[in-house]
Amino acid sequence: MIEPSEVNAQARKKENENMKFRAFLKNHADEETLDKQFSKWHQKLFEGYDCSKCRNCCKMYSGSVPKEDIRKDAEYLQMTEETFIKRYLCLDSITGTFETIHTACDFLQKNGECLLGDLKPESCVKYPYTDQPERLYSLYSVLEAVEVCPVAYEIYEQLKNEYGFKRLR
Ligand code: SF4
Ligand code: SF4
Repeated sequence: MIEPSEVNAQARKKENENMKFRAFLKNHADEETLDKQFSKWHQKLFEGYDCSKCRNCCKMYSGSVPKEDIRKDAEYLQMTEETFIKRYLCLDSITGTFETIHTACDFLQKNGECLLGDLKPESCVKYPYTDQPERLYSLYSVLEAVEVCPVAYEIYEQLKNEYGFKRLR
């Protein structure tokens, strides 16, 4: 597995190749088959991978907390909703969602754990979305994840092998 510290630089070097493979998939891949392939590599490569040693996603994005999570998150941290919002969040007026004030995410702890524990937002649980349906229509978001997430990077490389995609020199 590629090191978390190297994934962004390596993915950028392969930007052209990765875009070409995206176009290849759009033209040649079957939607259902591709979802199964993504899902297979997702299970295989995340199995036994310790995300707490990486946390690139938490470091490179702010956390996004849906309004409906605020009450239980505040309860979990034993504070009022007002204090919770004031301490950690700001409202994105365009999307209407709460984002953490800072990037890296304010809930990221020094030990790599999330302060929200099992209550972490669904978007964080699902990241990098490589086992979600309809990947054929979300390949740009896959490409974004390939620049951040070591597992997404490796999944994309495995798919290139699986499709016999000729890499650029
Ligand atoms: S989901 Fe990806 S980027 Fe996030 S911690 Fe795990 S390996 Fe790293
Ligand atoms: S809420 Fe937790 S899991 Fe989500 S980005 Fe922040 S630290 Fe990471």
